[in-house]
Amino acid sequence: MKLKISLLSAAVVVALSACSNTQSTYQQVEPVVQKVEKQYDNILLQKYAGPYDGVPQFDKVTIADLEPALDVAIAENLAEIDAIANNPEKPTFQNTIVALESSGEALDRLFPYYGIWANNNSSPAFRELQGKLVPKFSSMSSKITQNKALFERIQAVYNSDEFKNLTAEEQRITWMRYNSFARNGATLSGDKAKRYAEINLELSGLHSKFGNNVLADEENYVVYLTKDQLAGLPKSYISAAAAAAKARGQEGKYAVTNTRSSMDPFLKYSEEHELREQVWNNYYNRGNNAGENNNRDVISQILKLRHERIQLLGFENYAQWRLEDRMAKAPENAIELMNKVWPAAIARVKEEVADMQAVADKEGANITIAPWDYRFYAEKVRKAKYDLDSNEVKEYLQADKLTEAMFYVAGELFDFTFSPVPEGSVPVFHEDVKVWEVKRKSNGEHVGLFYLDPFARKGKRSGAWATSFRSHTTFQGKTNVLSTNNSNFVKAPNGESTLVSWDDANTYFHEFGHALHALSSNVKYPSSNGGVRDYTEFQSQLLERWLSTDEVINKYLVHYKTGKPMPKELIEKIQKSSTFNQGFSTTEYLASAIMDMKFHMTDPELIGDPVEFEKTELAKLGMPSEIVMRHRTTHFGHIFSGEGYSAGYYGYLWAEVLTSDAAEAFANAPGGFYDKDLGDRLVEYLFSVRNAMDPAEAYNKFRGRDAEVGALMRDRGFPVSE
Ligand SMILES: [Zn+2]
Repeated sequence: MKLKISLLSAAVVVALSACSNTQSTYQQVEPVVQKVEKQYDNILLQKYAGPYDGVPQFDKVTIADLEPALDVAIAENLAEIDAIANNPEKPTFQNTIVALESSGEALDRLFPYYGIWANNNSSPAFRELQGKLVPKFSSMSSKITQNKALFERIQAVYNSDEFKNLTAEEQRITWMRYNSFARNGATLSGDKAKRYAEINLELSGLHSKFGNNVLADEENYVVYLTKDQLAGLPKSYISAAAAAAKARGQEGKYAVTNTRSSMDPFLKYSEEHELREQVWNNYYNRGNNAGENNNRDVISQILKLRHERIQLLGFENYAQWRLEDRMAKAPENAIELMNKVWPAAIARVKEEVADMQAVADKEGANITIAPWDYRFYAEKVRKAKYDLDSNEVKEYLQADKLTEAMFYVAGELFDFTFSPVPEGSVPVFHEDVKVWEVKRKSNGEHVGLFYLDPFARKGKRSGAWATSFRSHTTFQGKTNVLSTNNSNFVKAPNGESTLVSWDDANTYFHEFGHALHALSSNVKYPSSNGGVRDYTEFQSQLLERWLSTDEVINKYLVHYKTGKPMPKELIEKIQKSSTFNQGFSTTEYLASAIMDMKFHMTDPELIGDPVEFEKTELAKLGMPSEIVMRHRTTHFGHIFSGEGYSAGYYGYLWAEVLTSDAAEAFANAPGGFYDKDLGDRLVEYLFSVRNAMDPAEAYNKFRGRDAEVGALMRDRGFPVSE
């Protein structure tokens, strides 16, 4: 997983971006505010103590303090909001927007503790409590987003003469606050407002129903294998399947459950052609089986309600509403990009299928490659063409050396140095966690701290992620950054090097990209540290590219025994294998991303049955018969079990286009990936501005032009017709 997680639910994020204040008194001219520091008995609410302007007191807190602390912090935040909303003075940038920016401080201090208990040190006690706490966040969030008086004050500032004289960053945070309310119905009144609220309520019920129907099909369709049906399956898969069968009361059999993590390796390795077909059918028909768990009607209702809702707001279609505040800005831009990649992707599928058919014919399999054969024969082609010994690669990837490599890159490009803090000076939440002080290399100026929690353990969620305990701002005096990276390497026994896979090494750099993004910030206000959905993964994806630069390979990707750098041939093999099977993965992804847009740009009256619509539209696109959508319509949870990715699934490709295009700029620069001039522009326009500048404008300033799709095509081994 490469997601930068938000600590809590989406609802809470909304709340966080719309917080408030009472105790501060602001002066128009003097930016540094005199505040009365509030005193708290509960340690979770207290100002951070200790060195480096205060750090979270992980060694002193207990879960028992969490709920009472949260109650106080939420009540305080809501009181702050009310005070801003009901201020008798005329709305100004200071008494409204800045007041909101500085509100919710107690909550901000509490979140790092909450996040650690939720992700790094979870326990049954915490999970039980979490069930009680999440509704409290949602309730706070809706109280803020439904505060009419608050919206009217924000709107007044947004439409004021004062607005025109604000700085670009101030205008942007005012617009973001105004727009997040307006996009969500705040400008409506009377019957329209009432209908808007009704639609939201109906939609939330339908989204849950959609998700539950898929879950039911995942639980109800399990294939049980007998001992003679295991041919080709890896040992680890067989033992997991045996355990899964036992858990379902079928001891002695082997369960292929109806989830991606079970289906994918089965289709890749199982030699049982007919069983592959059965497993494939179960998986790709989720939500489309006869009976009460069928999602067709649910989808039609969702699309109608979404369409009605955006019409209330004056938009033509849902995708237009969704993309308005994204980097892509309009659905046509996302479609244009996908249309450029699609022909090359399906052409590559033809080549892949021909390669696979040749293997099948040679084996005398007597089959025509069908969707349930794709993974199986692709694996055979991969072995023949690109075989990479993952254990051999691992021997050059030591966790400690990779950390050093990241710090080296940060020094060369970002002007940062990392030095370990004095032992015991900064409290940590687990003994494995290490902390470094980050300074500017050129002048020794303190920037912040970097917390690293690298190893897997019980109670820690899987995957890798980055968070910040504190962000850089200057609006109330400069704050330093407390940034974190978290991963799940399997810790080697004492004295031995922890070795990781190539994918894990990439992810390690990826998360460090998020950390550098936070540490580089030079914005004034907290809201400017937020993200834009189709842009926030770009910086971190880009940083992955430094893993395979010569400087890193020669100094840090060294064999754990011999100390010799990774051989050129091995690097070439890794790079070559990265273009393998790109026809399949690009096509299955794009088919989902394009259908997502079609569903959200077409009048629902014209769509009719969603499964028929999927069929007709994909046929028009020339979808190869050997592949289906990565997520077929009836189980496309990204877009139908909520609105997180609806008309937004294109975003993965969007970020990758930027990544490839920016990486190519470095590859072609005189100083390569360490080019001084380009590196400075990278930090200035792509990292330090955070969300204080429109991403499209920032990218253009970095590159001297808008991003182009050619570099991505070359990265995937597709021909470029430009
Ligand atoms: Zn990420």
